[in-house]
Amino acid sequence: MKAYRDLSPSPRTIMTPGPVEVDPRVLRAMSFPILGQFDPEFTALMNETMGMLRQLFMTGNEWAFPVDGTSRSGIEAVLASLIEPGDKVLVPIYGRFGHLLTEIAKRCGAEVVTLEKEWGFVFDIEEIVSAIKQHRPKLVAIVHGETSTGRMQPLEGIGQVCREVDALFVVDAVATIGGVEVATDRLLIDAVIGGTQKCLSVPAGMAPITYNKRAESKLQGRKKIERGLMLDGGEDDPLLRPIQSNYLDLSQLQDYWSPDRLNHHTEATSMLYALREGLRLVLEEGLEARFARHRANEVALIAGVEAMGLRLYGDPACKMPVVTCIEIPEGIDGESVRSMLLDHFGIEIASSFGPLKGKIWRIGTMGYSCSKRNVLLTLGALEAVLLRHGHKLDAGLGLQAAMDAYGMNAAVHS
Ligand SMILES: *Cc1c(COP(=O)(O)O)cnc(C)c1O
Repeated sequence: MKAYRDLSPSPRTIMTPGPVEVDPRVLRAMSFPILGQFDPEFTALMNETMGMLRQLFMTGNEWAFPVDGTSRSGIEAVLASLIEPGDKVLVPIYGRFGHLLTEIAKRCGAEVVTLEKEWGFVFDIEEIVSAIKQHRPKLVAIVHGETSTGRMQPLEGIGQVCREVDALFVVDAVATIGGVEVATDRLLIDAVIGGTQKCLSVPAGMAPITYNKRAESKLQGRKKIERGLMLDGGEDDPLLRPIQSNYLDLSQLQDYWSPDRLNHHTEATSMLYALREGLRLVLEEGLEARFARHRANEVALIAGVEAMGLRLYGDPACKMPVVTCIEIPEGIDGESVRSMLLDHFGIEIASSFGPLKGKIWRIGTMGYSCSKRNVLLTLGALEAVLLRHGHKLDAGLGLQAAMDAYGMNAAVHS
């Protein structure tokens, strides 16, 4: 028999836009014994999780539950369930994940209209509003925080116009939920997808979502067709357009999460424990305090990076608070810097995709990873590694600026 070594992941400081470090309480929650999926003790935990998700999404929606699978499963469940083949869908794209929304919408058979913004910027609300009025789509899908470019799209005013033209408004808040306010009801968003492994600091493997009555009525309409199909033995009537996916059919998932508990998949027991504990941590900290912590660490990180003489990438007016993008200085091998940070300091920062590959680093300050300790360690290590790569900088300035931002002085050690 081949002997495999014991699992022993190296300790890491994870400063990427996900996955990030997980609170030990969440890890412990994952190690508890399994309960059956219809055990009243377990269904009570499922219901509590729904209640906590409503608070996280700042919504009075009846439906707020996790889809089992990574965040993209939540995106796909929402789009596959709300888009009927032939529907016109509008996607304003300002980074990589806008392209993902487009691709999934196309696979759902949508006639997709896109707007594109140069990477590093976001849309003026007026541009989106006038496109909605012009194209009158059935659904508008947009990313709230684009981790690829570190930009955050303001959403005020879009929901109102969607209602005027009877379009559903869908938001990918995977990277912002739990770190930045996502006011589902106030912004009139019909369906929101969150992520676990970013600002919620729970391992990847679930996608918390919420949707309102407008979205639900679309589902219910399609469910009638689906029932008809099943009764008729699945006849090929081109006018019948059931939800193509079984696993990601929100009408079935909803029945499973409803008091009826209609059997669908087997709920991912240990992930549900993890999500519940992660949400408990969020609510114990308080949403406002949590957002403030994310802002404070962002401010210190930016102060340190700029004092080091590095330049931030992108339009500062729409910077995403939980991701800081830094231009890689001329003549520096970005990947070599990242490797030295990981191999010798145990610190992981991210590169980027597509047009930004090799041009920027991305530092995440998300969830449990978003701490004074991590920011200071990262700045110190980055400074040292840049010096080792021959980059000229005034050693120490970055850390000192961050310490100033935290209000640290020699007399008060807090
Ligand atoms: C990370 C991310 C996703 C994809 O999430 P997975 O969990 O990897 O499926 C989607 N959208 C945005 C904005 C993200 O940052």
